[in-house]
Amino acid sequence: MGKNYRSELVGAFGCPIDENPTGVMEEAAFQAKGLDYRYLTIKVNEGDLEVAMKAVRVLHMRGINLTIPHKVEVLRYLDELSEAAELIGAVNMVVNKDGKLWGENTDGKGFLTSLTNEGITVEGKIVTVLGAGGAARAISVECALAGASKVYIANRDSTRGTELAGLINERTGAAAEYIPWDKALEVPENTDILVNATSVGLYPNVNDKPDVNYDTVKPNMAVSDVIFNDPNTLFLQEAGRRGAKTINGLGMLVNQGAVNFTLWTGVEAPVDIMTQTLKQEFGLA
Ligand code: NDP
Repeated sequence: MGKNYRSELVGAFGCPIDENPTGVMEEAAFQAKGLDYRYLTIKVNEGDLEVAMKAVRVLHMRGINLTIPHKVEVLRYLDELSEAAELIGAVNMVVNKDGKLWGENTDGKGFLTSLTNEGITVEGKIVTVLGAGGAARAISVECALAGASKVYIANRDSTRGTELAGLINERTGAAAEYIPWDKALEVPENTDILVNATSVGLYPNVNDKPDVNYDTVKPNMAVSDVIFNDPNTLFLQEAGRRGAKTINGLGMLVNQGAVNFTLWTGVEAPVDIMTQTLKQEFGLA
């Protein structure tokens, strides 16, 4: 057998994509595990995804991440979907299984792992999710599949909110209820886990926080934010001030990347190295 000069390829398709730091984290992980893989951060415009997905097959890429605006569109070009991805209706990662493209959504799984790492489980718990967009759908569906007893969905747009609550009621074992969000939100008092899954507080709007009556956040609640840039959001600061345990969005980001790493390589992900690498990228280490 001759020497192999060909690296295994994975990466991300998106637009905008230039500021996406995932590649740095995944490449550090490949190096740490001695794997000859490369992660390519690739700009794919809206409308060009079909050709790009053909390239995944033609170039024998091991898989690909999808981000804005491709997470829903990509479903048309896949051979198989995981149960969660089918329910969520969006895919953030694809594995090329000998020419068959299998789609999965690991955002919610990364979220659940970030809770588990803090000693929090969702089984039998009441979860209140702010938002009904992509991240909120992934988180709500995974919480429901993981045995949450009830999921409240608060969203400004009632169509998106009721649709998500309906999906959880019909397709999972959890009960769900839509909460209209047209004034400062009163967090349901039986909430165990409160999640901001809106884009409020995302850089550069770091002085924004979701419109919540923060005095309804109680010390027995675990409060999490999907925003990772900057991870010390005003939402988490307000919750922390009320005595709640807080979990920032870096854990979700690292852990979805770790699940992706393992699905592509079959190797356990070096989560500590991935966390450290991301913190360095964000100037937090
Ligand atoms: P979407 O555009 O799909 O959804 C955005 C959501 O935010 C909608 O529910 C929208 O409500 C809500 N929203 C926006 N502005 C406001 C506001 N002023 N008040 C109340 N609600 C508001 O985005 P995504 O779900 O894809 O992403 C959301 C955030 O999650 C992003 O910041 C992204 O960076 C982050 N994210 C983090 C990940 C991680 O690993 N930590 C992974 C994936 C995403 P409406 O429907 O009423 O418009």
